[in-house]
Amino acid sequence: MSPHPPFGPKPRLGYTASIIERASGMRADTAALAALQNDSNARTYLIGGEMVALNRTANSHDPLFTLSQAQAFGPTAETIFIGLRHDAPRFARALEPKTAEALKAQPELLVTDLRSIAVKGLVDSEHLPPLAEAKALLGWHARHRFCPNCGAGTNVVEAGWRRDCPSCQFQHFPRTDPVVIMLPFSGDSRVLGRSYRFVNSMWSCLAGSMEPGETIEEAVRRETHEECGVVCGRVRYFASQPWPFPSSLMIGCHAEALSREIVIDRTELDDARWFERDEVAAMLMRHHPNELTTPPEVAIAYHIIRAWVEGEVEFG
Ligand SMILES: [Zn+2]
Repeated sequence: MSPHPPFGPKPRLGYTASIIERASGMRADTAALAALQNDSNARTYLIGGEMVALNRTANSHDPLFTLSQAQAFGPTAETIFIGLRHDAPRFARALEPKTAEALKAQPELLVTDLRSIAVKGLVDSEHLPPLAEAKALLGWHARHRFCPNCGAGTNVVEAGWRRDCPSCQFQHFPRTDPVVIMLPFSGDSRVLGRSYRFVNSMWSCLAGSMEPGETIEEAVRRETHEECGVVCGRVRYFASQPWPFPSSLMIGCHAEALSREIVIDRTELDDARWFERDEVAAMLMRHHPNELTTPPEVAIAYHIIRAWVEGEVEFG
């Protein structure tokens, strides 16, 4: 097999490369925000927990609603200012769960989860980054109504980018939780694993949450060793991806394995083993004789794995 199989053009990494200007300087400007809300070009995304509301259009779906449309659907929880798209204001509103559920009955709408929207390409890809941003931020609001410091109810400020405690004055900022996701290598083979959550045929990179006090490299080595027993040395950063389930940042790496014996932590993984390049190329192209696959193109794991198969990973 050629070292550069014909995979076609590289797809965009899902949820990245937003074309919306965040305009963070406007978040604390109450008058400017009020004007933006009254702008006839203002549009909002509507998210209820895991669900996103979409307008059905002739050939596709549109995730943007006018503010009056959104208002008519019923009460919303938080409204956050996402930014500007060609000077048009973009907001995101949290739907109450029962409102989101009720919207499923409206024939002109599709209410579905963000993973399905991304994997099936239900909306123009320019909407995936702001949808991911909005889902992560609104999810944070839903889980931080009370001050973790003193227990009092907190108030939304800065157009949804902070919550303040009126009792102890603590300021709470939205959090992003770093997760390392890695492809350990030895010669021309790589370790892939299977989570119990995966469909039976899918294999992916190993992954795990970073712990306080760790560097990215240390987290890659610890998680790899914990999950499959392989000891790693050098670690190379590859790329990162917001992953709003609920609010992670996936930090993609390649890691040099110093040992080859696999010892699987069955509490974490269903299976893990070494794969050769030809087999993984077949998985990427969906030509594997046993129908094994990699994760879909929207996920960073696909891109980490493909970069190796295409010979793009340099470890000098
Ligand atoms: Zn407090």
